[in-house]
Amino acid sequence: MKQDLLKAISSVDRPQLGEDIPILIFRAFRLYSGEYLKEIVGDKGASMLFLNAGRQLGLSLARNLLDEDVNRFLEKVSDFAKEEKLGILVVEDLNKEKAVLRLDECITCSGMPNIGMRICHFETGIVAGLFEAFLGKRVKATETKCNAMGEGTCQVTVEL
Ligand SMILES: [Zn+2]
Repeated sequence: MKQDLLKAISSVDRPQLGEDIPILIFRAFRLYSGEYLKEIVGDKGASMLFLNAGRQLGLSLARNLLDEDVNRFLEKVSDFAKEEKLGILVVEDLNKEKAVLRLDECITCSGMPNIGMRICHFETGIVAGLFEAFLGKRVKATETKCNAMGEGTCQVTVEL
């Protein structure tokens, strides 16, 4: 079902408008749906919903990007992120306990003023799903820096 969903959203038929949308529109969809969800399920609930949606996407994406070697795997993920303009993925730290990934030019938060909260839960979930697919077990991923919190970048830390 989830693989079908990925296939379904990949089919675009917009001969006049094409596949690209302004980033403002993407952010409006993301943040307005997020604000509405918060009203219904609270801040924490909304974050968890986005995180788990991202996790499902990460698991689906991993089917095409998986590699036995962690560095090659992360290279493929990084190429994908750049190609799809999600951001520029930089591995800051990778050891047995944790992985720290930075997402420069993050699709959701780059250039945003400090609005006092970290907002890239969906991206954090994608990273979690990718690592879960690689490791074959559940991991804890946290957004540890965000432009929307005035921290100058977007960063996800994964406990392995
Ligand atoms: Zn971000």
